[in-house]
Amino acid sequence: MIILVSNDDGIHSEGLRALEEALKAVGEIYTIAPDREQNAVSHALTLHRPLRIEEIAPRRFAVNGTPTDCINLAVKGFLPVRPQLVVSGINKGANLGDDVTYSGTVSAAIEGSLLGIPSIAMSLVTRGTNYHFGPAAEFAAILASEVITQGMPPDTLLNVNVPNLSRQEIKGYRLTRQGKRHYADTIEARIDPRGRKYYWIGGDDLGFDPAEGTDCVAVHEGFISVTPLHVDLTNYRALQEMRDLRLPWR
Ligand code: MN
Repeated sequence: MIILVSNDDGIHSEGLRALEEALKAVGEIYTIAPDREQNAVSHALTLHRPLRIEEIAPRRFAVNGTPTDCINLAVKGFLPVRPQLVVSGINKGANLGDDVTYSGTVSAAIEGSLLGIPSIAMSLVTRGTNYHFGPAAEFAAILASEVITQGMPPDTLLNVNVPNLSRQEIKGYRLTRQGKRHYADTIEARIDPRGRKYYWIGGDDLGFDPAEGTDCVAVHEGFISVTPLHVDLTNYRALQEMRDLRLPWR
């Protein structure tokens, strides 16, 4: 049983270490992760510069690329065998609501699922620096064994967000749908020492839509959130509503 582990916080992240430790009980771990932080790189694939893979310990490899590069290289030939499962994380920060579209952590799992391998993304919901990786690592191992023994629907990845609480404080887990977060729509403009303007993207976190059944609500209420995702972005409702579209094009 080969499990491929990656992340977007880089090969030296404690979140990755915690995940590897926990998954050792479930299978043989191969880790292929970016050599440095690759936060918010989304599903980027490196096509215009050479990628190098450095073995830094037995079955642990650092790549000068993105999380997607890591999974792609590993599955398409770098690993001696095809992994049965891909697990990405544990990310130092949430991947809730539409933030999943920016996420390198989730994209590693997306790449796994596109390559036909059941995949899981693990994130710890915190903006602080005091990380409780223990419960998330324990949950990852439980979920990984379940997926290995029971399988997963095709074309699916599981996006898991764990509250940054102690094991006792976490109330349980919920299967959820993707919610919606709200950010202040501002950018920060400043002046550099040479008098030129520069900008920071990233507004304040203003909360989330309180819609029932969503990942945001589950985590807010102290539950681990498990959202099955897929990458078919078709808006089926719009497809239906637009069925009478008649454009003057002939
Ligand atoms: Mn990250």
